[in-house]
Amino acid sequence: MSGREKISMDKATEEMFRRARELRIETVWDRLEKQQPQCGYGLLGLCCQNCMMGPCRINPFGGEPKKGVCGATADTIVARNFLRMVAAGAAAHSDHGRHVALTLLLAVKENGGTDSPEGRKMFLGADGLVVQSSPYQIRDTKKLKAIAQRLGIPTEGKSEAEIARAVAKIALEDFGKQDSNPLRFLRAYLNTKTLEHLEKAGLLAKVPGWEAGVLPRGIDREITEALHRTHVGTDHDPMSLILHSIRTSLADAWGGSLIATELQDVLFGTPEITRTEANLGTLREEYVNIIVHGHEPVLSEKIVEAAGDPELIELAEKYGAKGINIVGMCCTGLEVLMRRGIPIAGNFLQQEAAIITGAVEAMVVDVQCIMPGTVDVARCFHTLVIDTSPIATFPGAIHVKFNPEKADEIARKIVRMAVENFRNRSAHRVRIPKVKQAGIVGFSVETLIERFGGSLEPLKEAIVEGKLRGITAMVGCNNPKVAHDMNHITLANELMKRDILLLGTGCWATAAIKHGIFLPEYADTDNVGPGLRKFVKEWNIPPALLMGSCVDSTRILVTASRLAEDFDVPIASLPIVASAPEPMAEKSLSIGMYFVSSGITTHLGLTPPVLGGREVVKILTQKLQEIVRASFIIESDMRKAARAITDHIDRKRNELGI
Ligand code: SF4
Ligand code: SF4
Repeated sequence: MSGREKISMDKATEEMFRRARELRIETVWDRLEKQQPQCGYGLLGLCCQNCMMGPCRINPFGGEPKKGVCGATADTIVARNFLRMVAAGAAAHSDHGRHVALTLLLAVKENGGTDSPEGRKMFLGADGLVVQSSPYQIRDTKKLKAIAQRLGIPTEGKSEAEIARAVAKIALEDFGKQDSNPLRFLRAYLNTKTLEHLEKAGLLAKVPGWEAGVLPRGIDREITEALHRTHVGTDHDPMSLILHSIRTSLADAWGGSLIATELQDVLFGTPEITRTEANLGTLREEYVNIIVHGHEPVLSEKIVEAAGDPELIELAEKYGAKGINIVGMCCTGLEVLMRRGIPIAGNFLQQEAAIITGAVEAMVVDVQCIMPGTVDVARCFHTLVIDTSPIATFPGAIHVKFNPEKADEIARKIVRMAVENFRNRSAHRVRIPKVKQAGIVGFSVETLIERFGGSLEPLKEAIVEGKLRGITAMVGCNNPKVAHDMNHITLANELMKRDILLLGTGCWATAAIKHGIFLPEYADTDNVGPGLRKFVKEWNIPPALLMGSCVDSTRILVTASRLAEDFDVPIASLPIVASAPEPMAEKSLSIGMYFVSSGITTHLGLTPPVLGGREVVKILTQKLQEIVRASFIIESDMRKAARAITDHIDRKRNELGI
């Protein structure tokens, strides 16, 4: 059992951790303790397993061994490991994007069928015999047309289905195209001055082979090439490997993730401002509780729909429940929160805690950030962990694999299983912490522009006047190596005090709702500076704005790109910084890298495994400034981090002459 005193700054999580101790249930914090001391070579990035002559480790103190069996140096090994982490993160985001593009195609599947009386497209099923209606429809035609327009697709006289097919075709081509032109989505969304700068960035690096630049050519291609370059005996130059990290992360940002966000808005609706709640107190004692956890909303949207099915509600009532309560967890949770106002039970480190309440009938998981430990915790209760993705199977879970063509049927089946499971709940073991907090959420780029009266001009003016010092993109995970949510909230408050507006996503955003930061009245606290307070009151918004899940960090990039257009500068000239105060997943490194690559200096609150490569550290924290005009700040003390971020913002303001 973990001997740590404070594992979280969140009362609900602390309460559940104490409950876990009482019940002798092992959690993530206990497992972290059992891993101590963690391997120093791994922490420094100095271990290589890329071939079977290894594994090789480099002595970090300058003694032998100085090289791997193949002769690879510390910097080569560290840079290769770093690139592989970025590529894995980019792959996870982008594969998600691919699934969404394929779902869009499914929604408008062409078979010469007819429109049903309800307006649903009829098409032939996979077996070629059964005529069905598509489980998915286009919910936001305006957004579809806006995307088409950006991509240069003519919309005049075209049906919605024709436009959607053309958009999905370009998206899928961006994954697999083989020419050397930059991604179509990147060219359509990135502001011209940033694009022009990135076109020259390869030359600035003065590394042979990079004359053609760092812009991504194909999403899958860059990820594959990352694996190729890091294969034994291939690319050994630290700078060259980091340049490919730039290219791969840009393929994530302005490719895979952007496609996910934009096409999800088309299919499920562009978020609008709404009020919701967060934390374990959103679980309801007298209800059937279902948690949707993971990252992709393609199934969770359907689960939410199925939970409204009168037949299933009646069944729940028959078993003595008052109804069916859906709540979210991690980014799947944020997807349905943003679009439907569904409450979120917690962020990454609360997945086991949620089950320990004893009140969860089913945790429905898809992909990414789902700890296999949840299955072990669920064994101590009646909770069913139901895995649904064909690419993510959890030993010990119940497998109900998802097929988008049968989405409605599968979602109803899962909700029914949860309802049936209500009968197995032990009422005397239920302990739901009475902790929850409300927040105003749903700030897509579109709603932001609408709130500002049709453009981002008010934001620009506030920055020029100095009412707002700048903007920080707050992103990323939880990590049990630091007290849960502590870095997130400490840094957020330090920055808001300095009149910096926060735009946030991912597990940072869930922490922020739980701590009340997304309430407009938070602006009245001492944690918000006078300029920021004045600005948010004028526009009736909270001092920090929730823009979505991790893949939706692209909404922050698109906002930055629009702002750069308004200032007529590259993104790198803006007083904007990004921060991942509690990074954990490889995806957080890809996000960090893509902010830097797009020109936004990025702070990491925990050190990634790079310290073993002096040259790599120099590249990431300094030399990248010469190439993409941004770099990493690595600082684990949040007060110092706030000062470093503010200094950077002030430097950018000076350069802009404001
Ligand atoms: S690639 Fe080189 S450093 Fe890595 S395991 Fe093989 S021999 Fe060792
Ligand atoms: S922010 Fe990090 S931990 Fe949270 S869902 Fe995203 S990748 Fe996972």
